[in-house]
Amino acid sequence: MVKNHEEKVEVSALFFDGRSSKAQAVTLTLSHGCVAVHDDQGILILEQGVALCHLAPPLGSAKVELKTSATAHCLLEPDSAAALAHFFPTRKGLLLVDFFERRWGLVTVALVGCLLFVWFFIATGIPFLARQAAYAMPSQAMTLLGSQTLAVLDEQFFSPSALPLEQQHQTHSLFQQVCQQLAVPSCQLELRQGNELGANAFALPSGQVVMTDELVILSQGQGDEGLQGVIAHELGHVTNRHALRHVIQHSGIFLLISTLTGDMGSLTSVAASLPMVLAESRYSRSFEDEADAFACSYFLDQGKSCAAYGELLMLATKGRNSDGLSRYFASHPPTSQRLEAFHALHNSTL
Ligand SMILES: [Zn+2]
Repeated sequence: MVKNHEEKVEVSALFFDGRSSKAQAVTLTLSHGCVAVHDDQGILILEQGVALCHLAPPLGSAKVELKTSATAHCLLEPDSAAALAHFFPTRKGLLLVDFFERRWGLVTVALVGCLLFVWFFIATGIPFLARQAAYAMPSQAMTLLGSQTLAVLDEQFFSPSALPLEQQHQTHSLFQQVCQQLAVPSCQLELRQGNELGANAFALPSGQVVMTDELVILSQGQGDEGLQGVIAHELGHVTNRHALRHVIQHSGIFLLISTLTGDMGSLTSVAASLPMVLAESRYSRSFEDEADAFACSYFLDQGKSCAAYGELLMLATKGRNSDGLSRYFASHPPTSQRLEAFHALHNSTL
């Protein structure tokens, strides 16, 4: 029941005196800045200044609380509360919540909007921020990360290279040649026996590339271009900071924020994750495509094609079937898809 006579509003309510849980049907009257509570016999139970009362914001069809003293309060139907609302200061934000609460269509649209935003943030926002964080990391930190990661990999997987010294020198000079042609600063080759990691190569954040003897042996017979392609591919991972971006992207939002804000303590988490990420070669397809495109552009810039690199991929894929050696290529996208991408890149430059 709502009666409104200009400066006076009367509504029905349930009254709780704060001493017992018993509800009492009452009439609330607001006039001249005062709230008066009368029982069903018309006897005045409580009188209070409006300034000392607090009307809770409406929330859908739920009853609304009017606090009339430190202990006593009334519960009002939403339309009764609406009739009293202009006597009390209101927060517009809460009125907006009530507006949405009463419209399920809008709530559904808002929910779908939220889910789309979360999906967009995970699919695009986190990779973008991870990229920013990876490029914001100072070079001293990258060097430290690289040496720590290599130490763990050396301890867990590798043993010193057993390649003949001459072959080691040839591989080092080939590596330096590719580095100079691609203008990648401070890059360095580390040769190791891969053991259980087989034919493999890893790009460390510091610019070091670890290549296994098995991969060097596998590339024999392909001329220099096969191995040059692998080196260029790994330098593509270095240049694009894929290892760091992968770890930051998959370590959760807290590491992302702490790396972005320059919290060097977060380096510990990155350093702990990097060796396993590299050992398992778990880069995303887009990172591999980026590194392949980098390798292909290396050949195309010299007026060559990516064919030799593609042939090495084919050989390694066959090798994987027969001796299970080529884990490096097993961890990458299917060879046929990569070869198609090479052809597309080659044709786009003609
Ligand atoms: Zn790769």
